[in-house]
Amino acid sequence: MRELVILSGKGGTGKTSLTASFGLLAAGTVVLADCDVDASNLHLLMKPEVMSAEAFFSGELAHINPESCIGCGKCEEVCRFDAISHQAKTYRINSLNCEGCGYCAVICPTQAIDMNPARSGNLFVSEIKSGDIMAHARLFPGADNSGKLVARVKMEAKKLAEKYNRELIIVDGAPGIGCPVISSLSGADYVILVTEPSASGLHDLMRLVEVLKKFRLKAGCIINKADLHPEKAVEIEDFCKAYEIDILGKLPYDKAFTEAMIEGKTIIETNKSIRIVLEEIWNNINLKSI
Ligand code: SF4
Ligand code: SF4
Repeated sequence: MRELVILSGKGGTGKTSLTASFGLLAAGTVVLADCDVDASNLHLLMKPEVMSAEAFFSGELAHINPESCIGCGKCEEVCRFDAISHQAKTYRINSLNCEGCGYCAVICPTQAIDMNPARSGNLFVSEIKSGDIMAHARLFPGADNSGKLVARVKMEAKKLAEKYNRELIIVDGAPGIGCPVISSLSGADYVILVTEPSASGLHDLMRLVEVLKKFRLKAGCIINKADLHPEKAVEIEDFCKAYEIDILGKLPYDKAFTEAMIEGKTIIETNKSIRIVLEEIWNNINLKSI
């Protein structure tokens, strides 16, 4: 089983469009994993029919049992996150502010505070329009621990690949270089970096490559919208060569990408010429790198 992770240093490079396209080009051999759990959108293109859903719990939240509370105020004094307030002798915890540190529960003289598991998202397994399976998730707004949820999605994808005898997992990673990206990279065999020819595109690609170096992972780069700034595209190619990153291909700017997204389709379903370019890139990745 091989794991291919698709990343971009910044949002808006076309990463998810390309992930969905490669997912369809690999139909019948693949499990998809949407690890952009803070802002997942692969489902918009893959039309999942949910087969199973489960709650994702991460960390803890404090809860005051009013019957046991004597209104001493010690919990409010120690909470560094201003999560506890009171009216007269009634103490309450604001779950949005609670960081689950547990200090209030330790200090409470009457053991009136319980620490309960915090539900912070959902994990789904779905059949997608190609007939393949996708593991995906949604983190609740403001919830922490996206890295843990990414690890959970990846674990589910591996189980599915074994169950359905699939040789490849394609992971749609989060943009940036934060915790969900690090979590996406664990266990990867190859990374596709999607970038665009702009100052921020190159800058964020450089940051991402620094992260990849620590994992000693092989990577290739796709320059999307390459014709918008040919000089910057050349700069990106030179950077990639210096860091032994394969240039997998360049794509032109084309309104067809946006039009396909509006239709809820991948670009390979709507545009023949871009499909040919992406098929070539896909075949090259298969042959050379995984
Ligand atoms: S420390 Fe315990 S008893 Fe005191 S106000 Fe808080 S919950 Fe109530
Ligand atoms: S668990 Fe920590 S953050 Fe939450 S209310 Fe208690 S002291 Fe505050």
